[in-house]
Amino acid sequence: MSEKILNFNSKTIHGGQEPEKAYGAVMPPIYQTSTYSQTTPGGHKGYEYSRSANPTRTALEKSLASIENGNYGLAFGSGLAAIDAVIKLLNPGDEVVSTNDLYGGSYRLFKQIFEKYGIKFHFIGMQEVSAIEAKINENTKLIWVETPTNPMMNIIDIKAVATLAQKHQILLAVDNTFATPYLQVPLDLGADIVMHSATKYLGGHSDVVVGALVVKDKELADKLYFIQNASGAVCGPMDSFLVLRGIKTLHVRMQRHCENGKAIAEYLANHPKIEKVYWPGFEDHANHDIAKSQMNDFGGMISFVPKGSSYEEAIKIVEQLRLFTLAESLGGVESLAGHPASMTHASIPKEEREKSGVVDALIRLSVGIEDKEDLIADLEQAIG
Ligand SMILES: *Cc1c(COP(=O)(O)O)cnc(C)c1O
Repeated sequence: MSEKILNFNSKTIHGGQEPEKAYGAVMPPIYQTSTYSQTTPGGHKGYEYSRSANPTRTALEKSLASIENGNYGLAFGSGLAAIDAVIKLLNPGDEVVSTNDLYGGSYRLFKQIFEKYGIKFHFIGMQEVSAIEAKINENTKLIWVETPTNPMMNIIDIKAVATLAQKHQILLAVDNTFATPYLQVPLDLGADIVMHSATKYLGGHSDVVVGALVVKDKELADKLYFIQNASGAVCGPMDSFLVLRGIKTLHVRMQRHCENGKAIAEYLANHPKIEKVYWPGFEDHANHDIAKSQMNDFGGMISFVPKGSSYEEAIKIVEQLRLFTLAESLGGVESLAGHPASMTHASIPKEEREKSGVVDALIRLSVGIEDKEDLIADLEQAIG
């Protein structure tokens, strides 16, 4: 069956997959092996050592390539390991333009690891594409986009940024962790690299830490594969299997995340004790029109600030939630609540953080797939 004719929901289940050859197992076996026997030096069946390649990881990498409409997938030991591989494409003196309300761990990797090696990063608001162009010079080699951004849910116009990147011959990478290919497909919008923390929605069950890259271009894939193998931050066979299993239900989970997300965003927006709700599905969201055109729906990630913007009130709410678990991370079947200023974004200096809206009173929700009535009742008792 040709991949080309499959629609997205079918691709999550069948994309790049075929029954295993020995016994016809429908799920790929977990090839828990480091090495492979050879009949003569170099005489092997495509696998020699599991850092270079492992059949369970290959199955995941093919699935990733399929759902993101790319040609090549690469699976890493974490989302940050995947980002690390992308930055290793660059050389000292190169510059990167990135979003200012970036995932905290990406910011830490850029600032505290890669700046030491002579790579320069600019963190700016990217809602206006002209702001990106103003930062571009002859050293700029990469634009790093996250959309929706974390945790402010800003929307960046991927197609417009891709046009700019192509004009200046700069690589464009999009962190698609929040949206997933169920909601948006960056490679179709002109991005060169799509990145995932598969720990989140792709895995979907809060039981694994995995990262991914997908590209269309063979030369770029070869360079990234070289880095993956040479640096060695690969994803193990058991973890590959878990993400592969997660991806098979991505579409049905995302449908419910979106439905519950909408109900909760609307509930919060109408609550007298809530000051501000950030969710791209609202018509008065700054870039709602772009969200509407590049996304199929608006997702289950929501941030909000209680009235009076008090730190104490925000802490009280997250401590009183019962069904929402207070925890880092997102994208699992269970609903989570987080306090970015003290949790995910604590590694970003306060003044940097507040410039992009991550105030001390901000609460972030990853709305799960429980019954929405129960989730709203939980918020109601916690907000009071
Ligand atoms: C979690 C996350 C990462 C980092 O991924 P890990 O799997 O935790 O290393 C990167 N970007 C975004 C948007 C994330 O949510």
